[in-house]
Amino acid sequence: MFTEDAERRLQYLAMTDHLTGTLNRRGLAQAFDAMKARFSSTSRHIGFILFDIDHFKKINDEYGHQCGDDVLVKFCAQAGMIADGQGVVIRMGGEEFGCLIETDDPAKVAILAEAIRIHFSRLEMFADVQRFSATVSAGVFCQRAPDADLNAMLTMSDRALYGAKKEGRNRTVVREGSINIVIPANDRDEDPCDNNADRQVAALTRIANIANR
Ligand code: GH3
Ligand code: MG
Ligand code: MG
Repeated sequence: MFTEDAERRLQYLAMTDHLTGTLNRRGLAQAFDAMKARFSSTSRHIGFILFDIDHFKKINDEYGHQCGDDVLVKFCAQAGMIADGQGVVIRMGGEEFGCLIETDDPAKVAILAEAIRIHFSRLEMFADVQRFSATVSAGVFCQRAPDADLNAMLTMSDRALYGAKKEGRNRTVVREGSINIVIPANDRDEDPCDNNADRQVAALTRIANIANR
């Protein structure tokens, strides 16, 4: 017979990723249900960011599987710190992670995704004496809390993530309806098109507008 403590421990283990200590997919489902129940009668939004580490296979191949594991752990630790108080980090599987957020303003979800992306690209990794860095791509999708649906969030953020990979990786893309909005990366020199101020303003305005619909 299980004691209450042992049962709680089992529940925790069933919802936690062993390597990183973040929630796993089962944990995400529970966190989403709780968030939706809490905010469905409000005007708040639920956002989901899907992250996928770029060229992760190459990191494993060049520095070894253990270094690859370290990269995953570091990503989660840093993303968890940045998202703290705003969202919860989930390991979706392999080198893919999620961040579930509730907010008054969808633009904040894209801003959080950018903060996590940029900080991760600046993180120093070590393989013995060798230093290296890694990057991550992000796909963002937001819904009003009463309409929020986890399957839709996963599908739409995946479409945005696909767009981010297609745009060259180390990039955040927001899905809005059937459109991908590419967020200009202000942390690096872009091609002339991406440096275009009009394009940047238009992209950010469109994100801000999601809040007003
Ligand atoms: P992309 O930029 O398109 O995402 O390329 P990628 O190399 O990151 O993607 P791909 O799907 O080709 O490779 C993912 C690799 O992640 C392959 C797999 O061996 C590795 N992987 C999955 N889970 C783990 C893990 O727990 N630890 C380590 N070290 N590697 C893992
Ligand atoms: Mg992947
Ligand atoms: Mg990858």
